[in-house]
Amino acid sequence: MQTISCDVCKKKLDNSETNRDFFYYANHSICEPCRDNLEASIKPTIRTKEPFAVDWYNKLIGDSLDKAVQKGRI
Ligand SMILES: [Zn+2]
Repeated sequence: MQTISCDVCKKKLDNSETNRDFFYYANHSICEPCRDNLEASIKPTIRTKEPFAVDWYNKLIGDSLDKAVQKGRI
């Protein structure tokens, strides 16, 4: 059985849980709690952005995630 682990917190989940609990952002796999933390951490930044831009948002997620993976936490 293939095992996937969260790129940030390294928590492992097997395939049966993958669909429900895992998300893919910017080439990283992250678990649901880490996704929630990521969204919470960028929310204040998103509020300052007018008008909202999808490209900018995707880049923000990618950059934030790269940093989180390096640090091992969001
Ligand atoms: Zn995680």
